[in-house]
Amino acid sequence: MTTAFAELGLPDAATEREVRAAWRRLASQWHPDRNPSAEAVLRMQRINRAFGAIRDAGFAPPVDWEPFAAPAPPEAEAPAPAPAARPSPETPHRPISRRVRLTLEEAAAGCVKTLRGRASLGCADCGGSGLHGTPARCRHCGGSGRQTRRNFFGWLGEIVACAACDGSGRVRHECPACAGSGSRAHAWRVQVRIPPGLRPGERLHVARTRVGAAAPPADLDIHVEWLAHPFFHVDADGTLRCELPVDGFAWIAGHEVPVPTLAGPRPLALRQGCLQYTLAGLGFAARGHQGARPDQIVFVRPVFPESPSAEQQALLAQLMASTAAHPAPALRAWQRQMAAWGKRMA
Ligand SMILES: [Zn+2]
Ligand SMILES: [Zn+2]
Repeated sequence: MTTAFAELGLPDAATEREVRAAWRRLASQWHPDRNPSAEAVLRMQRINRAFGAIRDAGFAPPVDWEPFAAPAPPEAEAPAPAPAARPSPETPHRPISRRVRLTLEEAAAGCVKTLRGRASLGCADCGGSGLHGTPARCRHCGGSGRQTRRNFFGWLGEIVACAACDGSGRVRHECPACAGSGSRAHAWRVQVRIPPGLRPGERLHVARTRVGAAAPPADLDIHVEWLAHPFFHVDADGTLRCELPVDGFAWIAGHEVPVPTLAGPRPLALRQGCLQYTLAGLGFAARGHQGARPDQIVFVRPVFPESPSAEQQALLAQLMASTAAHPAPALRAWQRQMAAWGKRMA
């Protein structure tokens, strides 16, 4: 005890208050946080020991007593701690999810779609470590990787990992290329073949696809959507429907008009009086469809001029004159019935 008091420059009869004051004075002078001299570490250890002896003798510790732990000898040449393996987002067990919007024609025939994304890959500049250059000794803990912390009572020091260096004793200089993350974002694009016959809501799983030259293969989970079509409608059974406005005179004349199909325009021979046409096998065949291919149904809507021109009026007059001279059998029968009825009414 006498040695401990002497060490602190205190008389043997020092009071608790004097002990506290001595602590504050010595700690402010020798604590290595404040004193960078080489001697400070050793002096602080001796001060700690002295206070430990005084504490053991029954004195209450100074309220801000914080034992200082001597740092481990610096290991300047020791290799940097190996960076922890970083799970790369490019090797996910979870597939990359993408939506593809198909026109009806693309869905029917199949197509190739380009998918794009951004992936983070290991940084080439730092090999994924996030470090740049040689790691330096941590100034905060002097390279020991440890710091002392007061416990709940403000008394016994607790040695914990240095917060500044995560206990490694080394300061990591961040790789400027990846800002210390160890990974860098890369844009990728990949072409995917979409098979024919996929309907909205269907999913396509493409396993082990290369997304970018440097990236490991990834699984793709593709969600199919359809874009609205200007004139086709698809029934649940794959029947394709469309309405086809045609020149009313062409319809009467039995002309041929182009009709849209999923495989492009096809000629359709109009038949006077017929408004609905079936194109066998030209509907939407879903993937895995069994049996005959669904049909396409064309609804013809004959359109006549709303206000015929003078020329058209003259031509129509000619047409009516010709039908009056040679009426169709149904019309002639009707004309006879009307004549007989008229006589009875007279
Ligand atoms: Zn880097
Ligand atoms: Zn440190």
